[in-house]
Amino acid sequence: MKYSEKFRVNPGSRVRLDRIDAAFKDKHEDQASALVELEKYTQQLRELQYLLYAEGKQSLLIILQAMDAGGKDGTINHVLGNMNPQGSRVYGFKVPSAEEAAHDFLWRIHLAAPQRGQVAIFNRSHYEDVLVSRVHGLVSKKVWSKRYEQINDFEKNLADNGTHILKFFLHISPDEQLRRFKQRIDDPARHWKISESDYKERKYWDDYSKAFEDALSRCSTAHAPWYVIPANHKWFRNLAVSQIVVEALESLKMTFPQPSVDIGEIKEKYHQAEEEAAARNNGKVKGKGGKKGKK
Ligand code: ATP
Ligand code: MG
Repeated sequence: MKYSEKFRVNPGSRVRLDRIDAAFKDKHEDQASALVELEKYTQQLRELQYLLYAEGKQSLLIILQAMDAGGKDGTINHVLGNMNPQGSRVYGFKVPSAEEAAHDFLWRIHLAAPQRGQVAIFNRSHYEDVLVSRVHGLVSKKVWSKRYEQINDFEKNLADNGTHILKFFLHISPDEQLRRFKQRIDDPARHWKISESDYKERKYWDDYSKAFEDALSRCSTAHAPWYVIPANHKWFRNLAVSQIVVEALESLKMTFPQPSVDIGEIKEKYHQAEEEAAARNNGKVKGKGGKKGKK
């Protein structure tokens, strides 16, 4: 199944999250049955990212948003962590610092946008400014309601300048969230992840859902589509995200840059001579070792 088509929010359509099954897992019974496919995408992801880096002309921006415990960290770790760190960077956006808050809301985001050849992964993003800011009234409706258009313009600017944008909303159910909070309580290695605010925010589930629905509906565009990924099953979430990222990278039709030298000439003029010299040297080293051994 082509997950990019199944999960893409078609521009102009209205998202209703309660109608999307967060526990969807396609034809797979369990993780084991998805493993072969997942490994294939993981390998492709590595190769394609290498090509993106080598080509150095385009960039990829991956945005992750979710309710608390929705799996942003896990997706970064298990899917996107397979990329070479030399060509990829993860940015986590928290409550803005004093300096960030003194600028327009897109300032800190633009600073983190990927350079050509690079992948940038956003753990939270400028969408917080139409989510938490809206739900908690951090700014007036007059201010946040203008932001959807500002976001679309900003993302269009990035896209027009060679950045391919993919936005994933990791969709979990309220029950699954509670189950994950419980796992954190039961596992001492995860206690550090528990915060009171997670429980407090849970009370605003419906408000967040509405805010997400608006963001997903108003800001899914041809140049920066949103995907609603069923994420109750972590392995299915990983499978769907990796397939979509691979497909997007393939669509960039990247090629290795032309070599800056004549390979045949380099081989003939330098490489063969170097190999011969190395072989002679190796012979000498072996010879010496042999003598030593006889002593
Ligand atoms: P996460 O929950 O993403 O795994 P974390 O637990 O490490 O991250 P938190 O401090 O819980 O860190 O999460 C970041 C917090 O910053 C969230 O509550 C989020 O809503 C808030 N935040 C991010 N961007 C903004 C923003 N622009 N305005 C206000 N709050 C923001
Ligand atoms: Mg948190």
